Amino acid sequence: MRIAMIGTGYVGLVSGACFADFGHKVTCVDKDSAKIESLNAGRMPIWEPGLEALVKSNEERGRLKFTTNLQEGIANAEAVFIAVGTPARRGDGHADLTFVFEAVRELAKVIRPGTVVVTKSTVPVGTGDEIERILREEGVTDVSVASNPEFLREGAAIADFKHPDRIVVGANDQRAEAVLKEIYRPLFLNRAPILFTARRTAELTKYAANAFLAVKISFINEIADLCEAVDADVQDVARGIGLDNRIGAKFLHAGPGYGGSCFPKDTLALLQTADKFGVDQRIVRTTVEVNDDRKASMVERVSNALGGDLKGKRVAVLGLAFKPNTDDMRDAPSIPLVNALVERGAEVSAFDPVAREQAEKIFTGIQFASDAYEAAADADVLVIVTEWDEFRALELDRIADSLRGKVLVDLRNVYDRKDAEAAGLAYYGVGRGSFGRA
Ligand code: NAD
Repeated sequence: MRIAMIGTGYVGLVSGACFADFGHKVTCVDKDSAKIESLNAGRMPIWEPGLEALVKSNEERGRLKFTTNLQEGIANAEAVFIAVGTPARRGDGHADLTFVFEAVRELAKVIRPGTVVVTKSTVPVGTGDEIERILREEGVTDVSVASNPEFLREGAAIADFKHPDRIVVGANDQRAEAVLKEIYRPLFLNRAPILFTARRTAELTKYAANAFLAVKISFINEIADLCEAVDADVQDVARGIGLDNRIGAKFLHAGPGYGGSCFPKDTLALLQTADKFGVDQRIVRTTVEVNDDRKASMVERVSNALGGDLKGKRVAVLGLAFKPNTDDMRDAPSIPLVNALVERGAEVSAFDPVAREQAEKIFTGIQFASDAYEAAADADVLVIVTEWDEFRALELDRIADSLRGKVLVDLRNVYDRKDAEAAGLAYYGVGRGSFGRA
C-alpha cells in the first residue's frame, strides 16, 4: 500500500516507520522543516529506542521518505493518516483541533478521489464527521474518513506498534474498512485482534482507554496514602490485587501522579465531551482532581523528609522525563515538583539520561548534572522522580557518601527500605508505612 503520514512526531514517525517495515511505501510529511531536514540527514528528532535503526533500514530499502511538501507526500497514496498534535486548549481543556483541521484543509487542495483519510491523532467524538464536512465544503467528494486511534506507549513505541494488544478501526464505509484491513494485514496474520467499529465508537474508545488507565493510577495512589496511615505496604497491596485477572497488574504503581503527553490532556478532553453532551463523568473528574493534587503535593514529601524547611537545602532530582525511555517532558510530574522546590528556596541539581535538552527549555535556575552521583554531590536529599533503569542499580553506598544529608525520597518505590538503610540512608518511599505524608 502507498501511505502518507501527516505529522511526523512521536506517533507519526513511529507509525510511518513501522508501516514501512511491514512493506508499505510510506511518505511522512511535516510542516516543521527543521524536523524533516534532520530526518533526511539521518538524525532522529525524538529519542525513542530502536527508532533510528528502523528508520534507516526502511529508507535504504526505498520504503520510507520524508518531506515538507504535502502534494508530493500524498501523491498516489491510498491512505492518508493524520497524526498531528491535539494538545489541550488553554483555559478549558478541550482538545485543540486546530492542527487537525488545518491539515485537512491543506489536504483538501491536493487529495485524489478514492483516498481514505485516517485520523490517528486522538480526537473527540464527532471529529470524523467534522473532517468529512470540511472536505465537502472544500469541494472534495468520494473520500472516506476513518478513525484509527493509536495506543502505543512512548519508550516502547515500536514494540507496541508491531505487537499491539488490539487495533481499533472506526469506519463507516466498506472502502475504508478494506484499505485499513490491508494496511494492518501483517499484524492481522500475527493474530493481533483488529476491532472494526463505527467511527464515533473508535474515537471514544481511545479516550475511554486512557481515562481508565488514569483511574487505575489515581486509585492506587489513594490506596498508597491509606497504606501510609495504616502501616501497610502498597507494593504488596498492588501485587495482591494485580494478580487477580479481573484487575490486572499494570498501572498499579503508586508514585508522583501521572503525566505525559496523553493522560492529562485526554482525561480533560473526555470531560469536555461529557459536558458537551450533558453526561457527567464523575469518576474521571475525580481522577483528574486527585492527580492534580498529588502532583502538587510531592514537594511536601521532600520538605517533610528534610524536617519541613526547604530554604537553602540542596535537592538532587533523578529523572525529569514523564517516564523512562523518553525525552518527553510534557506534563511531567517533575515540573511542578522542581518549580515548587525552587520557589521554596531550595537549590536543585537534576539529572536525566536523555531529557536534559527538553528540560532546559522548561526550568530556570536549576543545575544539570551529568550523572546521578554528580547530582547527589553535597545534596541534602536525593529524590527519585522517574524510574530510569540506571536509577534502579545505583551504588547506594556511593550515593550516601556523596550526599551531605543522608536522605532518599523514592517517589517510584525503586528501592527497599532495608537496602537504603543498610547504606546509611533515611528512606521515604510512597505508600510503604507511616512516613512521608504531608
Ligand atoms: P507531536 O507533537 O510529537 O507531533 C505532531 C507533529 O505534527 C509535529 O511534528 C508537527 O510539526 C506536525 N504538524 C502539525 N500540523 C501539521 C500539518 N498541518 N502538516 C504537517 N505536519 C503537521 O505529537 P504526538 O505525540 O506524535 O501526538 C500526535 C497525536 O497522537 C496526538 O493526538 C496524541 O494525542 C496522539 N497519541 C500520542 C501518543 C504518544 O505517546 N505521544 C500515543 C497515542 C496517541
